[in-house]
Amino acid sequence: MVTTHNLGFPRIGKKRELKVALESYWQGKSSQAKLLATAAELRKSHWQQQSALDYVPVGDFSLYDQVLDMSFMLGHIPSRVRDLPGDALDNYFRVARGRSANERESCCVSAGEMTKWFDTNYHYIVPELDAEATFTPNADSLIQQIDEAQALGLSTKPVIIGPLTYLYLAKSKDGGNKLDGVPAIINAYKSLIDTLAKTGIEWLQIDEPALVTEMDAQWQAAAIHIYQQLQSRPFKVLVATYFGQLQDNLKLACELPVDGLHLDAINAKSEIEQAIALLGNDKVLSLGVINGRNIWINDLNAALDWLEPIHQRIGDRLWLAPSCSLLHVPVDLDSEQKLDHDIKSWLCFAVQKLEEISTLAYALNNGRDFVAGALSANQAAIDSRESSVRVHNPIVKNAVSRVNDTMAKRQSPYALREVEQRKKFNLPLYPSTTIGSFPQTASIRQSRRDFRLGELSAAKYQQAMEEEVAYCVQQQEALGLDVLVHGEPERNDMVEYFGEQLEGYTSSQFGWVQSYGSRCVKPPIIYGDISRPKAMTVEWARYAQSLTEKPMKGMLTGPVTILNWSFVRDDQSRAQTCLQLALAIREEVLDLESAGIDIIQIDEAALREGLPLRQSQWQSYLDWAIRAFRIAANGVGDTTQIHTHMCYSEFNDIIGAIAEMDADVITIETSRSDMGLLDVFDEFHYPNQIGPGVYDIHSPNIPSVESIVELMQKAEQRIPAERLWINPDCGLKTRTWEEVLPALRNMVEAKQLLVAQTDNKKLAVN
Ligand code: GLN
Ligand code: ZN
Repeated sequence: MVTTHNLGFPRIGKKRELKVALESYWQGKSSQAKLLATAAELRKSHWQQQSALDYVPVGDFSLYDQVLDMSFMLGHIPSRVRDLPGDALDNYFRVARGRSANERESCCVSAGEMTKWFDTNYHYIVPELDAEATFTPNADSLIQQIDEAQALGLSTKPVIIGPLTYLYLAKSKDGGNKLDGVPAIINAYKSLIDTLAKTGIEWLQIDEPALVTEMDAQWQAAAIHIYQQLQSRPFKVLVATYFGQLQDNLKLACELPVDGLHLDAINAKSEIEQAIALLGNDKVLSLGVINGRNIWINDLNAALDWLEPIHQRIGDRLWLAPSCSLLHVPVDLDSEQKLDHDIKSWLCFAVQKLEEISTLAYALNNGRDFVAGALSANQAAIDSRESSVRVHNPIVKNAVSRVNDTMAKRQSPYALREVEQRKKFNLPLYPSTTIGSFPQTASIRQSRRDFRLGELSAAKYQQAMEEEVAYCVQQQEALGLDVLVHGEPERNDMVEYFGEQLEGYTSSQFGWVQSYGSRCVKPPIIYGDISRPKAMTVEWARYAQSLTEKPMKGMLTGPVTILNWSFVRDDQSRAQTCLQLALAIREEVLDLESAGIDIIQIDEAALREGLPLRQSQWQSYLDWAIRAFRIAANGVGDTTQIHTHMCYSEFNDIIGAIAEMDADVITIETSRSDMGLLDVFDEFHYPNQIGPGVYDIHSPNIPSVESIVELMQKAEQRIPAERLWINPDCGLKTRTWEEVLPALRNMVEAKQLLVAQTDNKKLAVN
């Protein structure tokens, strides 16, 4: 018999119940007992939804983050919170977000650093490692959850993050070699294993996604050593890898002294044959045959065609699961009431993905005939998607096939454009601008809600937003900014706004996916060829421009960012979808230009996060991603100025590609690193103009004039003053006007001081 299991279930709840409970607890509106009760209810309901499986995962639930849970389970807690008052949960939230529940905490400690979980949009709290790091394991919380699941009569398989991956994800705080932590980590895991032994579990799942990354010989040796040391245990261990191929680590993974290996049979399908050979005759092979990263139904007949011969060869040693934890997909498609019927039949959220697993296992165990109904319904949906006119638009396919290199090129090189643009715009030294959005006030959100609920007419909504734009323009004029923006009041989200207007896109009502802690995103869904029925931003830009003599920046989201923050098609390559998006944005850019908007910003906030896990694959991603941006941007004339914006500046390793985007101006985040991130410009001669963000918009603090001047002077040491802009480091939508106005006033004052200093220098020279 084939065994079915799951690696992890979304924990936020169908209606984001965990988010609500957490935020109300943090605000002091509800008790800790209430929060813990909600968490327990959610776990119970999640297990019940998975009860058809042979093993349900336990320990995949988390109040904030599974890596932080692991740090607490290992008793590996930053020393700065160790002696603070309160209980373990207080400290847990202190590390997660700088404070426990607000009512009990007037001051804060610094939160743990947060970073992306492999190549997903989920963020984890980075474990902090130094020479003094101690581990005092405590598995009480996991054991309690095992008890809860067992009480429901379910077969449980606890899940923990593996020692290798834990070390891989940790950050050395003192610059030491992380592998020095191996002996301590082995002892900690040994002690965990001893404790778990008492629960009578049959299997433990140990997640080791680090095995899909590039590991050098030292790390490989450490992996083998660690697992050799953890061999003595009274239960079986399944090592789970996901998100990619194992490549150089495949043999190692197959030979670890454990009882089973889970492989991502979506991304590493080509390695399965080799794995079967390497695993020998005793180990379980768990195949992640259902994609845990997308929202599409699986072609079940095709999966069975592939699985049946494998099943014949390895028999009961075959386990089936989603490719990775279902944390990365929404909970239940049945909640969706508004999706188009056809499109809905092509989709599959966590609950439905598990049904697919059960169907596949049933067919393998008993023959396809026994699930003929499910298989034929699946086949019908697959066929309808493949041939649907809503998916395939010949006009778009034709346009894509006509894309050529000329379309990716500006008419003239930057040096010539710069001269023309200086003549045309006649901007002062250090032109000042902002990144696009201004505060999304309660009244903006109220109008949007009323409009959505039909309580505000389209005309009234339009008028309310125009008033917001007018206010925004007025404020910027009063501040004396040089290049203005309309403020983006009409946009709820920089990707969803375009998704709602493009053909080939749909959005769900409850398709939430956890991003970090209580934060969720609802990525729009690209189901078909992308086209732009009509202009999306032109009227807003035109209206804003009509209110001022100053140049108004048109504001767009770039194709790569739209792609990376959406659920994308699995029936064509990401590169192809990106190209379609690029053509749609290109049309918008040209329409803006025709409407007299001659500074256009195309945000590529998510360009960097699309980089593949393995560096060896970076270049091919960058090739198509940068080309897509260029196709979107470069149809304009020489005197139209293209800006782009990125919310990070760790691009030392991709600076060449950034330069190839050939935007006239790029604005980036730098303030948080004190311009340290600009070091890359010491080595790399970036040819075009740059606005290094001069203050951190993520903080409510008002930057002083001096601090801004100082940062700009640091920038000037690397980039000639004539090519510098002055701007905040990202959009201002999360801030209040009370914060924004004084901050921008200081920014403008700093700019004036800098200009005066330059004038003085010039006078001195003459
Ligand atoms: N133009 C967008 C804004 O200002 C950019 C946001 C971002 O980079 N994340 O909100
Ligand atoms: Zn940004």
